[in-house]
Amino acid sequence: MRLQDKVCIITGAGSGIGQSSALLFGREQAIVVVGDIDRENGEETARQIVSAGGRAVYIHADVTSPESAKALIDETIRLYGKIDVLFNNAGISGVGMLHEIEPDAWDRVMNVNIRGVYLPSKYALPHMMERKAGSIINMSSCIAEIGLALRASYAATKGAVLALTKSMQVDYAPYGIRVNALLPGTIMTPFVENYLKNSYDDPEAAVQSLKKRQLSGDLGRPDDVANAALFLASDESKFMMGSPLYIDGGVVFG
Ligand code: NAD
Repeated sequence: MRLQDKVCIITGAGSGIGQSSALLFGREQAIVVVGDIDRENGEETARQIVSAGGRAVYIHADVTSPESAKALIDETIRLYGKIDVLFNNAGISGVGMLHEIEPDAWDRVMNVNIRGVYLPSKYALPHMMERKAGSIINMSSCIAEIGLALRASYAATKGAVLALTKSMQVDYAPYGIRVNALLPGTIMTPFVENYLKNSYDDPEAAVQSLKKRQLSGDLGRPDDVANAALFLASDESKFMMGSPLYIDGGVVFG
């Protein structure tokens, strides 16, 4: 088993990519800590892991709040005594031309997508440093590199996460900690379905046009990203440090 007895925190594991990753990590014998602001969905993810014979707990977490992020880490340490993997996955979308984005909406995207990586990492790192081991996986997006119409605030956060990942890697390599980033393309999750529904008169036509930008000819599934997260979480990726890992069906070449 690729994550035998590894304690893995996944933020935003109540839905989409985070949930797929949590279920996969559970099948690989990890002890999965499901952190999500959505209690109902988070508890459901943990319940599914346990009913499949795995180990999991749900801990309510708002990654934008220092108290809540610290409580997520403290409770994990109290229950399991260590953190092997922190997957900073929680994120929200931001849509609109820059001149139309209200400051509050701008701040919300920055808060969840950047502060939400900073805070759990801030509180988890001292525990990893003490053990001289750990893998942090930060959720960026291929948008950080290629841009996309109407996604300025979101793209800005994902570019920041990529830069943050590289700087974190340099700082924490001496402590045996690896920090890598995932850069998915369009993955069909509630996040994308809502974006398409709210942004286009004809969401199905939008899906077809997105597919045309892919070398793969199709959009991704949450499992496609979960498999990449599993690789970064496991010791198989021990030589990967500060790397951007693309899971995008070749959209960056489209
Ligand atoms: P999703 O909406 O299905 O899931 C996001 C989860 O994050 C939800 O369970 C939500 O409750 C949780 N969350 C939101 N705010 C939170 C907060 N403040 N604290 C804790 N949890 C919070 O989205 P998804 O598509 O699975 O996306 C997951 C991550 O992958 C995001 O960071 C997203 O930006 C990134 N991503 C997604 C795609 C895609 O096409 N779906 C592409 C590239 C990157």
